[in-house]
Amino acid sequence: MRNGNPGFFAGKLDELVSWGRLHSLWPFPYGTACCAIEFMSTESARYDLSRLGSEFVRFTPRQADVLAVSGTITFKQAPILKRIYEQMMEPKWVISMGACACSGGFYNCYCTVPGIDRIIPVDVYIGGCPSRPEAFFDAMLDLQEKVKNQSYMQERKKKLIEQWATILERIEKKVGDEA
Ligand code: SF4
Repeated sequence: MRNGNPGFFAGKLDELVSWGRLHSLWPFPYGTACCAIEFMSTESARYDLSRLGSEFVRFTPRQADVLAVSGTITFKQAPILKRIYEQMMEPKWVISMGACACSGGFYNCYCTVPGIDRIIPVDVYIGGCPSRPEAFFDAMLDLQEKVKNQSYMQERKKKLIEQWATILERIEKKVGDEA
């Protein structure tokens, strides 16, 4: 892992984890309006999202990898959407489907969130009113490309460094308090 080179075994493990992840991106559908119907179509026999390994739609955030937000999001719903995002396990990704989710759409009013990226980070945006199922496929392929380029070993390294920094900070604080 020195000099940014993961080495043979770590490199192969990285490839294996990425391959597993990108072929099992399970979506959590957060649908509030018409775009949600288009999302449902992606799972139908006609479009068949299982071709990308994403046929298991999960209705619990703890088992989902991709939060698929489709439809209008109001400020009243914003805390719920944020909580669902926070309940998802890492690594997690977000797809914003349709003009309403991406920018508030034509609802220029006090109650509509002008884009879900004001609340949660978004990985892929899909335009359109409504977005077509083909566009959702395109977004999933983009997401797969993104996942493919993410390094599991680098993520682990970063997390371990963060954990150690927290532990050292707590030890120093405890020693300082006792002195
Ligand atoms: S973008 Fe259009 S189709 Fe999608 S939820 Fe908004 S109004 Fe409905």
